[in-house]
Amino acid sequence: MKSVTKANSAMRNLTVAAATLSCMVICMFSYGARAAEFNLTPNQENAAPLTKLSADEGTEFVKEYYAALSRVDIPAVVAKFAETVDYEGEGQRDRSYIRSDLEKYVARWPILSFKPEATTVSPKEDGSAAVTFNLSYSLANDTKTTSGHSTNNWILRRINEKLQIISQREVVHPNARPGLDKSPIPEAVEPEEALSDEDLAKSRKAQVAPERASKATSAAKTPRTNALGDFVIALDIGHSPLRGGAISARGVSEYQFNRRLVTELYAKLQSFGFTRSFIINPEGEEIHLIKRAAVANERNADLFLAIHHDSVKDTYLKKWETDGKIQKYCDDFHGYSIFISRKNPKAAESARFATALGSALLNAGFTPTLHHAEQENRPLLDREKGLYAFDDLVVLKTAKMPAVLLECGIIVNRIEEEKLTTPEYRDRLTGAIELAISKFASTPAATANSSQAPAKQQEN
Ligand SMILES: [Zn+2]
Repeated sequence: MKSVTKANSAMRNLTVAAATLSCMVICMFSYGARAAEFNLTPNQENAAPLTKLSADEGTEFVKEYYAALSRVDIPAVVAKFAETVDYEGEGQRDRSYIRSDLEKYVARWPILSFKPEATTVSPKEDGSAAVTFNLSYSLANDTKTTSGHSTNNWILRRINEKLQIISQREVVHPNARPGLDKSPIPEAVEPEEALSDEDLAKSRKAQVAPERASKATSAAKTPRTNALGDFVIALDIGHSPLRGGAISARGVSEYQFNRRLVTELYAKLQSFGFTRSFIINPEGEEIHLIKRAAVANERNADLFLAIHHDSVKDTYLKKWETDGKIQKYCDDFHGYSIFISRKNPKAAESARFATALGSALLNAGFTPTLHHAEQENRPLLDREKGLYAFDDLVVLKTAKMPAVLLECGIIVNRIEEEKLTTPEYRDRLTGAIELAISKFASTPAATANSSQAPAKQQEN
């Protein structure tokens, strides 16, 4: 299977209809200005004498490239290429060709998530350096999602003091589609027998370990069972760009936190074989809460998970100045909280997932916050795991499948906000959520009458 995520010829054949997306228009305008900065035609002779490229520098360069591509900052991506590039086996291509190729790519896949891993940097005699890495990707648009990994070989050279790509090759291995995959490689597939959480966590670590990924990637990313691949998770990004929810201690809207976490969680779920999962309202349109659950209902999701970030009651907020602006904060509360509605038609199953989620978060070192009980009289169903009842929460009540809302952390807490902005912290968070979903998806519903609201939410 050989194709190219970014320069796929099939992709290029697609109509440019989607390219009219407004974000692209903005990118193209700003490109003009940016292109002027690089209008210096740095020929190879101008290349600075070799300052050896360090492994860190190479790794950072790759990270920045994919960070820019993920936020659809095409000018920033294009600026990382030399004037002419040996491009994806097509021969020498110039920047305007690459720019147009990238624009088509992001028009087709407006939601992108990339994770480069296992980057190696080998300096060459001529002053350039070969960089290789493995890339996990997940891409989505309104109707489709795709994910997989690729192996990448780039050659970088310092031109006018600036690192640039002079050669780029990518070989893509899309994830097998659930149900079609009849040849999983046995040792990479988890046994279906119940494993302890610890074993499960260990075998996962092995699956994503870079050494493993670079050697036997197709095995490592094979969906473990068809059952998991068939399990559909509807991910709801809490709030919208215009009505952004809470405001963090540094003035960032909750929606931004929710969107980033959902995008990363989605990518993680895809890479663990939950290939049919989807994001509700990925474009952040102003849709009604009922509509959010309706989308999940229409698409027969098996689990509804709303992602939010938390605040505290106004009376607890204090003022501070940061970045020249007065913002509100409260460092007295921190932690996650989980909500279910006992009016959801699958309330017992909602509680079962919520319990698994609480356990996974605790095991991963997170702590629950109890302030919703103190400040809002929210009934605490499980104090240890931070599980609350919020019976009339619209999305939870109107979803027909088990539904849970997770407040990932308290963003008015200055320390917790900082933690939530680090990729490592979020990786631990999405890892725990994924583990809970896997556990929930691989264990059948406890009883046939799981659709009845439980009399008590006590876990077994
Ligand atoms: Zn919220």
